[in-house]
Amino acid sequence: MLKILGCRGTNSVYGKGFNKYGSYTSSLISVHNDTAILLDMGTGVQSLSSEEINNIREYNIFFSHIHWDHLIGILGFKPIFHNNVKLNFYLSKNYNFSTLEEFLGNIYKPPFFPVSVEVFKAKLSFNILEERKKYIFNGSELTYIDGNHPNTSKIYKLNINGITYIYATDYEHSPSSDEELIAFAKGADFLIYDTTYLPEDYEGKMDGVSKRGWGHSTYVKGCEIAKKANVKNFVLFHHNPEYDDNILEKMHLMSLKKCPNSIIARDSMII
Ligand SMILES: [Zn+2]
Ligand SMILES: [Zn+2]
Repeated sequence: MLKILGCRGTNSVYGKGFNKYGSYTSSLISVHNDTAILLDMGTGVQSLSSEEINNIREYNIFFSHIHWDHLIGILGFKPIFHNNVKLNFYLSKNYNFSTLEEFLGNIYKPPFFPVSVEVFKAKLSFNILEERKKYIFNGSELTYIDGNHPNTSKIYKLNINGITYIYATDYEHSPSSDEELIAFAKGADFLIYDTTYLPEDYEGKMDGVSKRGWGHSTYVKGCEIAKKANVKNFVLFHHNPEYDDNILEKMHLMSLKKCPNSIIARDSMII
């Protein structure tokens, strides 16, 4: 099983009208015994319970990419300050970080943060994501392809106990990348897909600003991909912080008409 810790895109959002689908930005976790696979570190990581944190001794952390909404949760990630915890980071070579200090030292440093990397107690390891490698943790398998997003992104395929999840957030549809995604997602159980914009918003018909080239997609495009890839469940994800519960509910209903297997992500949902 995979738990959605956060499914909001771009920025956390709180308050009336935003309680149903949640506030936290992108993060998903799969735990087997005391080992976790963490996909992205948005503010969703803050929703891990004390019980979960006490139980997990090893985190294997992969990023779709490191735009702030997928990384900022690291600042509130308690396990990094705990003894007897291992954090294994896997980063794309595209970022040109060659050490953990280069990566985390850029985040944990004055004047952006009051303490630096020396205060960490967890055992940390830094790994460059290897191309075409199949990562295996406690029987769960993880592979990836490149996505279509500014500054690059990765799309992951995670197989947990025979259930296949495709994590395609911060992805903008395009004929060539769609073809690759369809092939990669063929027959998957879940396609977790970037549905940041309503189609009319994407086209600029809502506020006069076209979102073409901004790196995000729509439920209509996602649904087409889900159908072509013959996936069992299409999951709407990376909710626009400007879209409240009413808009998201309507989007889900419209998606259900096109893809009856549509699910809309919310914080703490287990799929
Ligand atoms: Zn994002
Ligand atoms: Zn992004």
